[in-house]
Parts: sequence; C-alpha cells; structure tokens
Amino acid sequence: MTSSASRGRPDSPRVVTDSAALSQVLRKARTGGKVIGLVPTMGALHAGHLSLVRASVAACDLTVVTIFVNPTQFGPNEDFTRYPRTLEADLQMLGREQADLVFAPAADQVYRAGFSTYVEPPDVAQPLEGRCRPGHFRGVATIVLKLFHLIPADVAFFGQKDYQQVRVIQAMVADLDVPIRVVICPTVRDPDGLALSSRNRYLNATERRQAVAISRSLARAEELVRDGERCAATIHSAMRAVLTSAGIERVDYVALVDPLTLTDVDPVPDGTMALVAAFVGGTRLIDNRQLGKG
Ligand code: AMP
Repeated sequence: MTSSASRGRPDSPRVVTDSAALSQVLRKARTGGKVIGLVPTMGALHAGHLSLVRASVAACDLTVVTIFVNPTQFGPNEDFTRYPRTLEADLQMLGREQADLVFAPAADQVYRAGFSTYVEPPDVAQPLEGRCRPGHFRGVATIVLKLFHLIPADVAFFGQKDYQQVRVIQAMVADLDVPIRVVICPTVRDPDGLALSSRNRYLNATERRQAVAISRSLARAEELVRDGERCAATIHSAMRAVLTSAGIERVDYVALVDPLTLTDVDPVPDGTMALVAAFVGGTRLIDNRQLGKG
C-alpha cells in the first residue's frame, strides 16, 4: 500500500487521497478482472448515498466511493464554504456498507494550478437548474468526467434525487463515448416524504416542517394526473399552492417536463417528470417525481 492509502480500523474502507495511489490500486483490480463500481459524492453522507453504495456493492466486485466537495459546481453566492464536511463519520458509514475504497482528494489534487479545461455540458443542462445556477452543470460534467478518467469503473451509480444531473451525465457519456454504464437509484426519503439531502442539516425545526411541502407538491401533481388531469397550468398552480400554504414563497421553479429532453410538456402525459426547486428559509432544496405510469 502506498503512503497516501490508509486503512484505519479493520471495518473502515481504504482511503486514498492522491491520484497516483488511486491508479495503482485500481490497476491491480482491473488486471484481476474485477467489475468496478463508482459512487461519486460530496460527502456528508446519509441513507440516500448509502443506497447507491449498497447497489454498487451488490452488483460489483470492487466499490469506489469518491468524496469531494467540488468547487467548480458552486456559484459565487452559494454554500461551498459552509457545505458540511464530515469525513470521519462518512468513513464509518462506508465501512459498515463494505465499500472497498474511498477517494477523498484535496482540491489541488483535482484541479492543478493553471487548470482551465471544462466540459461544455449537453442541451439537457440548459433549463431548470441550468437557468437558476449558471455554470453548475459545467462544473458537474467536468468533475464527473475527470472522476470517470481517474477511476476506470464499469458502472457508476447516481441518485434520481438529482434528476437533471443524471440526464446531463447520461447525455455526456453517450456524446463522448465514455465506456461506463450509468445506473439510476431511487430517491431515499424520510418517513414524511422529504428527500434526504446533505443540505437538510441546514434546516431548523420550523423549516424542517415546511420542507415536507416540496414532496407534498409532487404528490399533489401525481394525484391530479392519476385523476385524469392533463392541463399543465392546473397542475402547476396546484403544486405552487401546496408550497405557498406551507410558507414556502421563494420558488425557483415548478416544472412538468419530458423525462428525456427536459422540455416543458402540455398536455401532461404519463411518464412526465415533475420537478421543484425552492428555498426553505435560506436553504435551497430540489426534488422530483415521475408522474402517472412512468
Ligand atoms: P451529492 O453528495 O449531493 O453530490 O450526491 C451524491 C449522489 O448521491 C448523487 O448521485 C445524488 O443524486 C445521490 N443522492 C443524494 N441524495 C439522495 C437521495 N435522497 N436518494 C438517493 N440518492 C441520493
């Protein structure tokens, strides 16, 4: 094992912090014919992340989890500096899930001095998050492609929670012939419906109660579609009413879109993706749900 690779307690995964050590470990795994699974994360892990790890451990011989708060996907007024960093707790959770390897690089390992090459993200990156967070998907596509190069995995696992991100990555993989299979895992929720997110820990008790309105607005859309409602404006306003009545005033978007192109639909067919982005207090949360028979 190289000096930058370490295994603490017997149940904690091997942690690698530099890319040279990483490629050494992975070269061995690849020549041994192992199927490699990759789970990219920004840490502050919760049960949503762990569901991805579990899916990888079940399907692959070797599971690599990356923990890196990627500066290039945060806007200048976003929460990069205050984003939760909980490496010790993350490693304990990953040990319990039997993840094999954790790549947790420092920022200067990933972005060398003078770094200036970015991925121009695909068309599906334009609406929704793309409009509200300019440059976000350029940062996401760039870091994910870099991770795909650093970790020559067979399969990469992403959460439906970040639906547009999944579409961006799927399109990038197809457009740039990246030899990796992308698997989408369902959104893990708290019992009341709130989608798990590392940012939920920013919420105070009142905001936590309000936040559930986001998944309720999606459930309302589902109810309407199941009852035969097809008018986008009617569904939009019903969703917004759920948010407003919970005191959520700052809504970035409520959208009803085609699941592949992410363009608006009206009338609303089965399989439509409903997406919401809204601020609860100062915390921006996103969620989505596929409506009708998906
Ligand atoms: P993040 O650390 O927020 O960048 O997320 C890392 C991965 O975990 C992404 O693929 C997310 O979509 C996924 N993820 C985040 N929250 C959830 C959740 N509640 N359920 C399932 N996957 C999730």
